[in-house]
Amino acid sequence: MSPSPDAQTRQSSPLHLDTRLVHDGQVRTSFGETSEPIFMNQGHVYETAESCEARFNDSEPGFIYARFSNPTVAMFEARMAALEGAEAARATATGMAAVTAALMGQLKAGDHVVAARALFGSCRYVIEEWLPRFGVETTLINGTDLAAWQTAVRPNTKVFFLESPTNPGLEIIDIAAVAKIAHQAGAKLTVDNVFATALWQKPLALGADCVVYSATKHIDGQGRCLGGIILGSTDFIETHVKTPLRQTGPAMSPFNAWVMLKGLETFSLRVERQSQSAAVIADALADHPTLEQLIYPNHRHHPQAALIAQQMQGGSSLIALTIKGGKAAAFRFLNALRLIRISNNLGDAKSLVTHPATTTHQRFTPEQRLDMNVGDGLVRLSIGLEHPTDLIADLKAALAAV
Ligand SMILES: *Cc1c(COP(=O)(O)O)cnc(C)c1O
Repeated sequence: MSPSPDAQTRQSSPLHLDTRLVHDGQVRTSFGETSEPIFMNQGHVYETAESCEARFNDSEPGFIYARFSNPTVAMFEARMAALEGAEAARATATGMAAVTAALMGQLKAGDHVVAARALFGSCRYVIEEWLPRFGVETTLINGTDLAAWQTAVRPNTKVFFLESPTNPGLEIIDIAAVAKIAHQAGAKLTVDNVFATALWQKPLALGADCVVYSATKHIDGQGRCLGGIILGSTDFIETHVKTPLRQTGPAMSPFNAWVMLKGLETFSLRVERQSQSAAVIADALADHPTLEQLIYPNHRHHPQAALIAQQMQGGSSLIALTIKGGKAAAFRFLNALRLIRISNNLGDAKSLVTHPATTTHQRFTPEQRLDMNVGDGLVRLSIGLEHPTDLIADLKAALAAV
């Protein structure tokens, strides 16, 4: 199976992102199907033993086994590379498989990692507890403090890791400046870009060497499948990612890749709308008397407005609210919401609300949580595709109940 001539033309012409999110990577079989086919097969057959040998020694292109690659997964990878502006991409079963594989693929015993301490709970587990079990040293710092990145560098530092905006506090880290410090130290920067999405922030263009996503979030965007993806230069993916993924096996299911491909067709529409709604909601709630603080990554609602203007093209679908009165008040707020449901997911078409201190960040001590800006009154709101007026009514009624 090879790309049809019109698909090849499409891939080489300078089309707009919205167009590429519908067409890039699509390969049609001889049946000429409109939508992308799901190749639900483990392996492939070969005409001859010679052809099979050639496939295995890379002298003949083609698919071998679904743990290595699969036609539907390859379409998803091509479309994601187009979205990110990356040379290469490899899909994984989950976002955490992408984070773990991207880090372990770059590291060996004796190496050192510097990471921002405000991280998604599982990312922090991988850095703080998992990597050290294999002889990798790690240092967690305040990622917004550029001097701290510099000070943490050791002769064996190989990887810098960060999320920006951070989950759940929505702090912004200067990606271009951190990439520069990493490169001067001979290290490489990996960015978890879930909270900004590929629509509003392009870490590779800012100097990062690797970008990872949980495709479970905005890429699916409708609460169905788990998935992850690692993006970078062809050299980065070939050197650090391709073989470890092939041999250790956290492969994405072809069915999930198909769901993600269909998700990408509506990705820019959804993320744009969700972000517009989040901005409207942030405006409507900003001065509410029950709130200690409202953080939203746009100019008016964020203390790091200048940095946001410099590195992000848009806001986010997430809002961080701190309710006056700590956990009890936050719980009253969550329990009073009717339309917005309590769930730890985000990026969904359905608006969702989380209390990070008792869920995603539960296993940390109160001091560690404060380090990560996860106070007892903090609530993370993920804005979906409902009409913003309905969401504002639900939020205001719940705030009144606090
Ligand atoms: C959800 C999330 C992950 C993990 O993704 P899964 O698909 O659940 O494994 C990693 N990083 C961030 C920032 C996330 O929000």
